Amino acid sequence: MNKCIAVLFSAMAIGAASIGHAATITIVNLDGAGEGFNDPTVVPALPSNPFTTLGEQRLHVFQTAASQWGARLQSSVEIRVQAAFNPLTCSGTSAVLGSAGAVTVHSNFANAPVPNVWYPPALASSLAGVDVAPATNDINSQFNVSIDNGVCLTGTAGWYYSTAASDTTPAGRIPLLPVVFHELAHGLGFQTFTSSSTGAFNGGTPAIWDTFLADAVTGTTWINMATNAERQASAISDPNLIWKGPIVTSEMANFLGPAPKLIVNSPAIIMGEKNAQTATFGAPVVAPGITGNVVIATDSGGVSNLDGCEALANGGAVSGNIALMVRGNCNFTVKVLNAQNAGAIAAIIDNNAATGLPSMGGADPLVTISSYGISQADGNAIRAELAIPTAVNATLGFGTALAGTQMSMGQSFVRMYAPNPVEPGSSVSHWTRDAFPNLLMEPSLNTSLFSDVDLTIPLFRDIGWNVMTPVIDPVFANGFE
Ligand SMILES: [Zn+2]
Repeated sequence: MNKCIAVLFSAMAIGAASIGHAATITIVNLDGAGEGFNDPTVVPALPSNPFTTLGEQRLHVFQTAASQWGARLQSSVEIRVQAAFNPLTCSGTSAVLGSAGAVTVHSNFANAPVPNVWYPPALASSLAGVDVAPATNDINSQFNVSIDNGVCLTGTAGWYYSTAASDTTPAGRIPLLPVVFHELAHGLGFQTFTSSSTGAFNGGTPAIWDTFLADAVTGTTWINMATNAERQASAISDPNLIWKGPIVTSEMANFLGPAPKLIVNSPAIIMGEKNAQTATFGAPVVAPGITGNVVIATDSGGVSNLDGCEALANGGAVSGNIALMVRGNCNFTVKVLNAQNAGAIAAIIDNNAATGLPSMGGADPLVTISSYGISQADGNAIRAELAIPTAVNATLGFGTALAGTQMSMGQSFVRMYAPNPVEPGSSVSHWTRDAFPNLLMEPSLNTSLFSDVDLTIPLFRDIGWNVMTPVIDPVFANGFE
């Protein structure tokens, strides 16, 4: 029955789209004279950014993101975003690129779809048709000026202020535009106002966010959990923190694909889907995948004869099969090239540490076969069967479930970011990092993204936004034609 309600809601949103009008998002520049958006340093114009001072280029990127968000959302009330470039936390290896959020919270305003829950002011004003917070700005945002000052992220040469994907970001630069898209989304409503570290509601009132955030095991939403402790535990319950919004759920298949998996076909004792990391080199795995028997590759020596770092000694056995090698002692590309030279049809590298997957990074145009990295536990299980000996047949392929989703009560939902220990400011108010392809609202910037807003729009529709250009909802199309 919930599904029917979801379809009805989306029909209403689409119907309203033709008469609503696009939001105007205005930037309130909080930087002082000579700094941030007012920095007079002369810089060369870019193909997509014609301005020639640092401050003007920053502002142009910000205005581009603001106008693109404005064009997607409906509001008759101006949305005001205060913005500044400030030094934010960073080190040589990590940095906070930006932060943003709603300035105030509002409940029980005119036309509030759900009573007694907090909404961000931009959304509340849009729904009310009047400015619910006329004396204050709607969104507060900051961007890390230290990225440009050379004190963050060793090897990074600063922000890149392009506004078009065709204006390719040079190596060592970080594009600002996707970061502004991301931060504005937080301020527009992609956040809870409930504490992710204590589970306490803000002033005793839950957020509209909490009506969709849920535990996959019990199916209970945050608003219906009896205690703060229950929400506190849910915030660190990865992979069991899910978004139960009906529009995200009905549209997730338009944005997410199946996750890469090593599928062990036999023997029965270890068969099933194993988590896998794809390689940045060699041929990408494409459906239906690459199937063969797994053979332990042995090489001519070095530190270990199981690491594939030297030419293989059992090339006859490996030829036509999938080579299994252990991580370490040389680059991933060296191992896979040695397997390829012995005639392997694909390669698997199992981790040399108890947790995680091999990163499978590197580049070598000579490598043409596909390879996956798998966990040490899965590698050991395969090695144990081969030692009996029992033949192991496997497929470098894809799982049946969409990446970044979890089952709850027989239905699949998108997962939210719920690491343990909790990361205040990041936990709960982002999608899981496991989404594939990557999504704008994951906790870290994905360099594959530039101006995509992907699954953010369905989530905005779940929390109450009327949008100008809804993506075609397949449930809607099938249900009403
Ligand atoms: Zn974020």
